Amino acid sequence: MNSNDKYQVVIGLEVHTQLLTQSKLFCGDSAAFSTDPNTHISPITLAHPGTLPKMNSKAIEFAVTLGLALNCEIEQHNYFARKNYFYPDLPKGYQVSQHTTPICKNGFVPIKVDDTNRNIRLNRIHIEEDAGKSLHDVDEQYTAIDLNRAGVPLLEIVSEPDLHSSDEAFAYITELRKLVTWLGICDGNMEEGSMRCDANISIRLKGDTKLGTRVEVKNLNSIRNVKRAIDVEVDRLIKITEKGEKIVQETRSYDADKNITFSLRSKEDADDYRYFPEPDLTPFHITDDYLIELKNKLPVLPNDLKKHFEDAYQLSEYDAAVLCDDKEQAEYFNKVIEHTNNYKAVANWMLGPVKSHLNDTGLSYKSFSLPPKKLAALTQLVDEGKLNFGIASTKIFSVLLDQPEKEPLQIATELNLLQESDSDSIEQWVDEVIAGMPDKVIEFQSGKKGLIGLFAGQVKKLSKGKADMQVVSKLLDKKLNN
Ligand code: ADP
Ligand code: MG
Repeated sequence: MNSNDKYQVVIGLEVHTQLLTQSKLFCGDSAAFSTDPNTHISPITLAHPGTLPKMNSKAIEFAVTLGLALNCEIEQHNYFARKNYFYPDLPKGYQVSQHTTPICKNGFVPIKVDDTNRNIRLNRIHIEEDAGKSLHDVDEQYTAIDLNRAGVPLLEIVSEPDLHSSDEAFAYITELRKLVTWLGICDGNMEEGSMRCDANISIRLKGDTKLGTRVEVKNLNSIRNVKRAIDVEVDRLIKITEKGEKIVQETRSYDADKNITFSLRSKEDADDYRYFPEPDLTPFHITDDYLIELKNKLPVLPNDLKKHFEDAYQLSEYDAAVLCDDKEQAEYFNKVIEHTNNYKAVANWMLGPVKSHLNDTGLSYKSFSLPPKKLAALTQLVDEGKLNFGIASTKIFSVLLDQPEKEPLQIATELNLLQESDSDSIEQWVDEVIAGMPDKVIEFQSGKKGLIGLFAGQVKKLSKGKADMQVVSKLLDKKLNN
């Protein structure tokens, strides 16, 4: 028996998301990412004696918003606690976090892997401040410390151990990332550390209900690395177990270059952080009115919009899902279809030529300047048979991008690219092609019907792509079969 069939993989993820607030969680220092170290550090960030924290209410708004979007229960009576530990990049000697009252509880993240939908349960989402950053590679002898990040607000999103493969973990983080960027509460930039993930991994014999001993792989900085780290770690856990050895509970790190995990510290003794309520901050209450206000402000969520695109516009599930991967893209689609009813064609245009253009230029919909009305007009021309899609997407579209003030019809007319559906001129092309290939005509008429494609192709070529191919087909059929 393959050992992969013998064991069930169990994964719980802790995802840290940096919030897109202007200032830090407890002071006015900028919360923006900066490559210029130690520039966002007032005495409060540096924890000088006598400084006092002041709560940033935007962080609470973002936390509640995410909780509502993920079907969580919202804790209305909250307090902050000090989590005490020493680390060079933690100037206060403690991290202000939530302890027994996470702002959001329960809830779930819907994922889809291999056509199976599952809801991954959440344990909690809590607010905490980030620590600074130790830089080990800027100096040979010393470790440098950058405290810009110290005090930036984070949401820690903790799942239940519900994930059973690296693919599910991948889908889970992808879904979370889509949602936090959709809501505008995090930029989702994993390379800059705006989202970081710790993966708790264990295995157990299939059918067992008791959880196995877990290993925690810390600080995974890309969705791809989460998947890769889980895969190598699961292999390692299975090998150890198959050898009859015991797994030790420990914290590990992942080396992406070597594709291995290595031990950081054993976790046999529970950490003692000596939590106690933060005396410098009063507890904070979320009123019923405020909850209702935030509920009303919640935008349409990507999965609901996807469903709407499928139901109202008969888009395929795939097209609807891809359109809703990105909020600006979905909004653009909504704007284009204010001007045309050919929803499927608009989706094809957006997921085809527009997407390629954005990929090639490294742009996003935020900076895409083609007015939605113009894309609708272009779609319409193809629809009405005035342009064929090939010419519209290769020739007209690029001109339109350069001169978005022009009408697509005007461009097509100027470039003499309008499709010819006038039968007289098409008939001339058809006759010319038939006259030029007498051998093929005989072969066709003696049964080689597949040659029809060759004739059609020649007419297309002769007309420089302008002949309406439906008319061409009809004429060829009439002339060759008589
Ligand atoms: P800690 O705060 O010590 O990391 P938690 O109990 O908060 O511990 O759990 C952290 C994460 O570990 C959660 O996502 C949880 O689902 C996951 N987890 C707990 N036990 C296991 C296990 N045996 N196997 C896999 N994941 C686990
Ligand atoms: Mg943990």
